[in-house]
Amino acid sequence: AWEEDIVSLTRGYVQSFESLAQQQNIQLTFNSDIDFLPLYIDRDKIEKILYNLLSNALKFTKTHGTVNVLLGETENLVTIAISDTGTGIEKEQLEHIFDRFYRVENSNYQEGTGIGLALAKELVELHHGKIEVESELGTGTTFTVFLPKGKGHLQDEELVKNPEDMISPFQFTLRDGGEFNKDDDSLKSTGQSLDLLKEDSDPVMLIVEDNKDLRRYIGGYFEKEYQLIEAVDGLEGFEKAIENLPDIIISDVMMPNMDGFELGQKLKNDQRTSHIPLILLTARASTESKMEGLETGADDFITKPFDPAELQVRIKNLIDQRQRLAEYYMDNIQHPDLASLISIPHSGITQMDKEFLKKAVDILVENMADEEFSVEEYSSKMALSRVQLHRKLKGLLNMSPGDLIRILRLKRAAELLKKGAGNVTEIAYEVGFNNLSYFAKCFQEEFGCLPSDYPENK
Ligand code: ATP
Ligand code: MG
Repeated sequence: AWEEDIVSLTRGYVQSFESLAQQQNIQLTFNSDIDFLPLYIDRDKIEKILYNLLSNALKFTKTHGTVNVLLGETENLVTIAISDTGTGIEKEQLEHIFDRFYRVENSNYQEGTGIGLALAKELVELHHGKIEVESELGTGTTFTVFLPKGKGHLQDEELVKNPEDMISPFQFTLRDGGEFNKDDDSLKSTGQSLDLLKEDSDPVMLIVEDNKDLRRYIGGYFEKEYQLIEAVDGLEGFEKAIENLPDIIISDVMMPNMDGFELGQKLKNDQRTSHIPLILLTARASTESKMEGLETGADDFITKPFDPAELQVRIKNLIDQRQRLAEYYMDNIQHPDLASLISIPHSGITQMDKEFLKKAVDILVENMADEEFSVEEYSSKMALSRVQLHRKLKGLLNMSPGDLIRILRLKRAAELLKKGAGNVTEIAYEVGFNNLSYFAKCFQEEFGCLPSDYPENK
């Protein structure tokens, strides 16, 4: 949010509806008790709010009606009231109209999708404001938006414009790293949940869609590259997501039991699934931009009927973005600088995932000197099953738990060698390698020289 004159913004925006109002023979007016009032707002969002309220007012008002916008203030708030002389809304309906997809039944006005008000409310709340409605059937409706003055209600980071643009794209190079996966081998030999691990190289896609034909149709485009899992609604989708931790989820929005938004929220708020890219399928082109504003948990949207090529491209983009993120983190993971790494803002990573990574690395660092520290212990400390931990780390860092343990040990060793914190043997022990030649081999693999030559020959 940044400071901007709310009066001229609102006046200007209302004027942009003038010709639409004229077409419908509706009188549109703007009045303000104040001439000028700088407010901390996000212009885009305020415009979206006004757009929804004004277009509703015009949509539900007949010819020769009026729509008035009145801007006023109290001691702490700015008020923007949009009143119309339209159809009005029944009392019983009033409490629902801010719900997603809610449209008054038997309404003669069929075009809507019922997202506008849900979005407006959410955007108002992002401004720490509120929205209220008063209405009388057959007489008209008034929506009032209240926005707080000053910036006392804003956190420092809310005053920043675009924190996610801070890191430029970086190159992704694949690591092979398969050679020393001794922890992985032990993981595989337990015989438990073998299926998933065997499919490690085949990415897993979860398709959540209540329409069977459409589910199959989507699946048809991806069955060659992906191992497909299907779910019939958000509820089942969530269960299957937890069970399988897929690499990508494609979900419909409107579904019985649990819709795509709620599914998105649940996925992004669960540490096991928060990293998984989610694409929501929306019903109409015009809703797509509205959805972007809602707190959907989605990483991308695609409109039905969709173009499969476009869906493929978007999926690829999301997966590439994930891989760049993984590479970025792996390049930067270095105890004891982890704290700074974790605090780096990045558009592709959620707070939930940052916390997960911090915990995942902290536990390894604590147990670094323990050569016996196993993936078993690791996953139990993370409160995940081995398979979940495996897939979560693969999803986030493109690494198995065994890879991560090894790489952290080696990075720590390199750091200690650089500092001259001991001889090679001491340092090898300190980072949990009891076998010196194995240590030397791993080290050379990672850094291109023997530990005894490091860092001079680097
Ligand atoms: P969308 O905004 O997504 O295109 P919509 O306008 O139907 O679709 P909302 O803006 O969320 O959806 O509004 C929800 C419902 O509330 C509307 O369908 C309508 O029944 C009722 N409503 C909203 N504003 C008014 C109004 N000014 N007068 C009468 N009814 C209204
Ligand atoms: Mg609307």
